[in-house]
Amino acid sequence: MFRVYACAILALLLFGMAPFLLPVPELEEMLCAYEQTDIMEAAALLPPVGYPVEFDLKYNGPKWGESQWLGDRYIIRIHEDSVGMAALDTLIHEWAHLLVWDATQESPHDDLWAVAYGRCYRAVVDL
Ligand SMILES: [Zn+2]
Repeated sequence: MFRVYACAILALLLFGMAPFLLPVPELEEMLCAYEQTDIMEAAALLPPVGYPVEFDLKYNGPKWGESQWLGDRYIIRIHEDSVGMAALDTLIHEWAHLLVWDATQESPHDDLWAVAYGRCYRAVVDL
């Protein structure tokens, strides 16, 4: 019986304390990573879409981003006020559209797009 209690106490100490033993990045370190996200570096990690992709990072339209087929290439526009992780999320969102472009024209944010979004997210963001 003592052995059971000893194991339970040991498990509680080990696993109960685990969250406190893991390294936690400082806020300053996290903010630095947030601000230094390089969109072009991230784009290089994304799955190929079969056509060239042009970027407009100075887009000043009504949305945070958009993508368009130009006949021989795609263009992704990311709002100029969008920086860091917000811009990265827009890139991932729009790149997912490119991956499933033909199949999702009638329903652009359907399940197929969601799977593509997940694939792009995992390619870029460290988990
Ligand atoms: Zn969309």
